[in-house]
Amino acid sequence: MLIAGNWKMNGLSQDLGEAKALAQALKAHPPKARIVVCPPATLISRLAAAAEGVYELGGQDCHPKPSGAYTGDISAEMLRDAGATWTIVGHSERRQYHGESDALVAAKAKAAWRAGLGAIICLGETEAERNAGREEVIVHRQLAESVPEGATAANCAIAYEPVWAIGTGRTPTAADIARMHEHIREVLTARFGAAGRGVEILYGGSVKPDNAREILAVAEVGGALVGGASLKSKDFLAIIASAPVLL
Ligand code: PEP
Repeated sequence: MLIAGNWKMNGLSQDLGEAKALAQALKAHPPKARIVVCPPATLISRLAAAAEGVYELGGQDCHPKPSGAYTGDISAEMLRDAGATWTIVGHSERRQYHGESDALVAAKAKAAWRAGLGAIICLGETEAERNAGREEVIVHRQLAESVPEGATAANCAIAYEPVWAIGTGRTPTAADIARMHEHIREVLTARFGAAGRGVEILYGGSVKPDNAREILAVAEVGGALVGGASLKSKDFLAIIASAPVLL
């Protein structure tokens, strides 16, 4: 089980206390899941120091190239150099606000692997797509085109994040999550065989302390990608404490 926190564009030096509090609490009560915190890139190296090895660090995005004339971008190698072991790619906010295509997301995932990072590859349908009954078709396409050849449990996690559930306080029913995660597992297994069976499928979208236990207990839910509730160590710890199984 993998529980990742996505701080998005939040976090200043003054928030390092949350990162330290998280490390202390996890040291005292070792988690039943692998924990990754994805702060803004400016804080990765300082959080890596604060984490004292009890949780891992991740980026929120990376450029496909290792270096070059790409002003404002960050490469997977730079994230690795700062102390990250993972990076999120294809978050719906990147797809929506930066026009990222499935092909670009796949290129970013490959860049993460090139740098030795695990890639948390995000996908999920919009509300209009769900209302039209097209959620499985959309997720199927995103899996086919955003996940490169060579995905394994060691280099990849898939985060199913219905766009309409992100930051809204709304979540699919447990039955809907189960149905989609089973679909994703079938697609991964058909494509990658035994390697596809091991890839963790995270659920993301308004995971909170009060719904984490139910969501994390759903079949084929291998963890969570947590946005807002990862910013406060108390809430994130409550979600981590809801993880049902040992790694
Ligand atoms: C996210 O940003 O990936 C996310 C799931 O956000 P939230 O938990 O705030 O809905």
